[in-house]
Amino acid sequence: MTHILHRAIHSKLPVAVRGQGIEIFDADGKGYIDASGGAAVSCLGHAHPAVLAALHEQLDTMAYAHTGFFTTDVAERLADRLVDDAPKGLDHVYLVSGGSEAVEAALKMARQYFVEKGEPQRRHIIARRQSYHGNTLGALATGGNEWRRSQFRPLLIETHHIDPCYAYRLRHEGETDEAFAARSAQQLEDKILELGEDQVIAFVAETVVGATSGAVPPVADYLKRIRAICDRYGVLLILDEVMCGMGRTGTLHACEQDGVVPDLMTIAKGLGGGYQPVGAVLLSGKIFNAFANGSGFFQHGHTYMGHPMAAAAGLAVQNVIRNENLLANVDAMGDHLETRLIERLGNHNHVGDIRGRGLFRGVELVRDRSNKTPFDPSAKLNVRIKREAMARGLMVYPMGGTIDGQTGDHVLLAPPFIVTDRDIDTIAERLGDAIDAAVAGLA
Ligand code: PMP
Repeated sequence: MTHILHRAIHSKLPVAVRGQGIEIFDADGKGYIDASGGAAVSCLGHAHPAVLAALHEQLDTMAYAHTGFFTTDVAERLADRLVDDAPKGLDHVYLVSGGSEAVEAALKMARQYFVEKGEPQRRHIIARRQSYHGNTLGALATGGNEWRRSQFRPLLIETHHIDPCYAYRLRHEGETDEAFAARSAQQLEDKILELGEDQVIAFVAETVVGATSGAVPPVADYLKRIRAICDRYGVLLILDEVMCGMGRTGTLHACEQDGVVPDLMTIAKGLGGGYQPVGAVLLSGKIFNAFANGSGFFQHGHTYMGHPMAAAAGLAVQNVIRNENLLANVDAMGDHLETRLIERLGNHNHVGDIRGRGLFRGVELVRDRSNKTPFDPSAKLNVRIKREAMARGLMVYPMGGTIDGQTGDHVLLAPPFIVTDRDIDTIAERLGDAIDAAVAGLA
């Protein structure tokens, strides 16, 4: 009998005993290709020697020092590095232990910014439906995934949601990218005006939507329009790149491809590649200066923020990405993955959409391609796909569709940046076979 909650509930989970390169091995010696990097975390795969060496060295010198008393060389170096590589204007870093913590900190920074500026009446957060920003209460309130939120609703702060820029489901027949971008972004302006033009703190969005709908990128110009609307009303733009950031889409930050710089950006998963829990908020000079010229501090903090082991992992992972020129591989292998997915699944009766950027790809499953009807959630297609994939030695990240038909089941792929074209071929084949087996008998 296990005493770990996640294993007590999912009692059939295999026991992971070793990771090497793109594979995890269980206690029976069976290997699983980590084609989702867990949940888009393991960007370098497992047991990368340079990261292990950096962690051993850090452990030997300084494992922990509370940020209330000290800064550390390794945390300073990671922050310098993140600012060097960040879009111009994001010039300060707040180091935390994961994605939800980063989102919570960003929300509180945004609120405190307006208090410092003498606009304490601003209190509203606007985000999008079918989004995920974390499981702590502020982040959960911000996310728009009803399945995750519903039973906790009485505990959630009030937030407001507009539609995502989800072309497969929400674009009108014959509508151009430009018109769809304008129509989707207009919802933000309408919502700001409804709430009061000096009442809104921030708009929060994942640059490329991850967990809730499977690697959905915005259409061209959507985020530029969003940026302009935020600027028009002095609303802060928070881009949540916890999942899609740190190289996953082929550029270090996904928003580089949209030509937009947010006021606050959250990063996590790929930052430390799973070698240590680490996340961060990158913030603009204007927010930093409001704190510096105002109360002089940000009223927040966690015991493990700026943890030297976490910073060492982040720095080592980012060094490997740079030294091994891995963003170029993400680009090339991302194209190859898209090609192979289209070859294997493009004409599949139950595949509605294949989408994404770089090594961040989603496959949306539907019962009927012609009208995009999802499978009934009671069929638990996502659970079946995961089971079939694991049986074939493949880890993919499947999510269920919604009862209201707003999304179908989907599979998220986020393989390590070190994959080769042969690895990609194997991933596409195994995924195709797993989907075939999972849908057999369901239609
Ligand atoms: N934001 C996004 C976009 C995410 O995908 C996630 C995790 N899936 C989070 C926040 C929360 O991160 P964590 O699980 O590390 O708290």
